[in-house]
Parts: sequence; C-alpha cells; structure tokens
Amino acid sequence: MNDTGTKGKITRIVVGAYGENAWIAPCGSGLAAVVDPGDEAQRILDATEKMGLRLAAALFTHGHLDHIAAIPGLLAANPAMPLHMAAADAEWCFSMQNALPPYTPVLDVPKTLLPVADGDEIRVGDAVFHAIALPGHSPGGMGYLVGEVLFSGDTLFAASIGRTDFHGGDPAAMERSLLRLARLPPETLVLPGHGGPTTIGRECRSNPWLAPLLRAGESAKESESPNCQTSVGQLEL
Ligand SMILES: [Zn+2]
Repeated sequence: MNDTGTKGKITRIVVGAYGENAWIAPCGSGLAAVVDPGDEAQRILDATEKMGLRLAAALFTHGHLDHIAAIPGLLAANPAMPLHMAAADAEWCFSMQNALPPYTPVLDVPKTLLPVADGDEIRVGDAVFHAIALPGHSPGGMGYLVGEVLFSGDTLFAASIGRTDFHGGDPAAMERSLLRLARLPPETLVLPGHGGPTTIGRECRSNPWLAPLLRAGESAKESESPNCQTSVGQLEL
C-alpha cells in the first residue's frame, strides 16, 4: 500500500486521570514515534522497549495538559527527543493557563520543541506523518496522517467530537476541521485522543455531529459537498 506508513502494530497506552490515548507507532529502522504522550512517561518508554524499538520523536495533536504531561519524563530519558506541536498551542500550553495547581505544575518550555504547520511532513524512521491543521478544540489542533492511519487528537472521536468550550475553542473552526476530515478516504483508520478507534467512513455515516453536518452541506450545496467517497488518488491534504 503506502511505504511511508507505519511499520507494524500501533500500540495504545491509556494514560493519566483523563484516560488519554498515547499511541506508539513503529516507524521502521528500529524507531518509534509517540503521538500525545499525555502522562506516565515510564509506561510509554517501557512499552516501546517491549516492542523492541527506540522512541525517536513525539507528535502532539494539541497542547492540553492530558496530552503533554509525559514530556519531562520522556526528555529525562532522551533529552534530544524532538517534540512536534503547532505554534498556536505551544504558545500557551507551557504556562499557567494549562496548569491545575496544586495538582499539576506548569511545564517548562522544552528545548527540543519544533513548530508544526499545516502540510508539514514529519519523517520518523521510514514513516512520514502528514500534518493537517484541525483548529476548533484548540487553536493549534493538528491531525497526523501516516499511510492510511489518522491520529485525530480531540477533534474526532468514535461517535463524538471534541469540546469547543475550552479556552481557544471555536465551534465554527471545529465544523470546518470535521468537514476537512470527512474528505479523507472512508477506509482511513482513525485513532483518537480518547476512546477506541474508528474509521472516517463510519463517522461520516453515523457520528451524531459529523453526519448531520454532511447532510446539511449536501442539501445546501449539492455539487461542492464533501461526500466521503473521495478516492485515495484525490486525497487533499
Ligand atoms: Zn484536549
């Protein structure tokens, strides 16, 4: 299929008080990337080691605390690990705005933080992660498409979507982000920030927020509506 996709089984580690999904993706050449290391760094490192891989990079779908709290532990193990996050979230997520004192402190701004923008390609090992800007749940929301797998963060869940009532949330932007995801091939596997996996096709058909949005779009603008039937060759990123 796609030789820049992940190289083997992607492992889910559910971490922290909010049951956040840290996804460990094998990337070839003995390397792995973690998407959203939200807490419990040691469990993430141990799981990667058990897979026989070295954790080479972390990618963040957004900056909320439950998606980033393992950063200090990961950097203690590997101070050079690149951390990929959109600038629009990096600018507030290492501040008091993202802390819950006295339970969780403000995290230091990591030295290895790298800004991600829409359309960027992040190579880890032999895999390429395509960054897709998905504002709405937070200003710097990002999805990562690698092969036929989408890491959707807190934008799209199985049968649900992310909240837009947090600081920086934007319901109109969320609608646009969801409609953008609806143009991905229906067979795309969706690995979200919370809960189990799903597919784009399934959410287009039955997601209580996305499905009505698509129906409304179809009746309003027949010719330009997203239709969930886009083939891989027509994929727009
Ligand atoms: Zn979130």
